[in-house]
Amino acid sequence: MWRETTKHERNQRIFEVEFAEFLPDRILDFHVHVYNEGVVPQSNPFSCGGHPTTRYDYNDLEQDLAECYPGRDTYAVCFGLPIVGYDRVRNNEYLARESDRQRFFPLRLLDPHEDNAEILQSDLESGTFCGLKPYPDYVRKANVNEVEIPEMLPGWAMEIADAMGLIIMLHIPRKARLADPLNQRQIVELAENYPRVKIVLAHIGRAYYLKNALGNLDALKDVPNLYFDLAMVNHWEVMEHLFQRVPVDRILYGSDAPIALAPGKSVEINDQYTYVTPTPWALSISDDHGKLTFTSFLYEELRAIKHAVERLGLGKDFVEALFFGSGMKVLGKV
Ligand SMILES: [Zn+2]
Repeated sequence: MWRETTKHERNQRIFEVEFAEFLPDRILDFHVHVYNEGVVPQSNPFSCGGHPTTRYDYNDLEQDLAECYPGRDTYAVCFGLPIVGYDRVRNNEYLARESDRQRFFPLRLLDPHEDNAEILQSDLESGTFCGLKPYPDYVRKANVNEVEIPEMLPGWAMEIADAMGLIIMLHIPRKARLADPLNQRQIVELAENYPRVKIVLAHIGRAYYLKNALGNLDALKDVPNLYFDLAMVNHWEVMEHLFQRVPVDRILYGSDAPIALAPGKSVEINDQYTYVTPTPWALSISDDHGKLTFTSFLYEELRAIKHAVERLGLGKDFVEALFFGSGMKVLGKV
């Protein structure tokens, strides 16, 4: 089993020594991908840190939540895999059908080419979905680094989202990510033009490394309907930078499971970032000498959060808000 949970004794030990006292009783993971059988073609599996998968359904998630956070009440915001060529409609239908909105809260994949106002409106009318998950790849530009946020989120979709006060889980485009001035401008415009929408910048605006975050939160930190999830960020410096600038009610714990359950760590080298994994992966440098014993990206993220919390002397209230309260408020559950 490639998934690094407390099923492996080495992770059980990490949990007991490092996290058991730190983590609150309730944990809401705001960034989870769930995909049922048949969404991912066998010929083109989805790689989690170098481990090919064709399914990660609610049964898998329930098991992993119990084994990652033993003894905790767990909750999750879930959405499909936003990849062109995967069965988006089947994935959305599964989430609509199987999410109870008490423990598991679904977002709907939004494809600006294959969706339209009518389809979106009728899908959302049942009240099943809490929000939308757009993605740069759905714009289908030859160079995905040239995508702009309004192309991922056309006006017709944003008007519906705004009228319903939906969440938008936004993986920002462009090579410079959070540091891109056009992104910065378009994020603020989006939030201002659609004030009822709650925009979540996934992965702290993809600033997985300090160089990308430094100085780039200033224009965004006071936008009231803009939130930051921590998914796949493994750097305590980035966490510390965020925690010092943005109030905790706009910071959301998220993991990016099942990818985050793979063994590995993201690292910053000379103002750039990469992943290091034991298994070769398109996005990583791999430990082909087998020098290291790894734990999950998820546990590396928890370590970074804990380290930043301790350095800043933040209390239990902060930790509880980060892992549960802030997210539940965004979901309208408090
Ligand atoms: Zn993700």
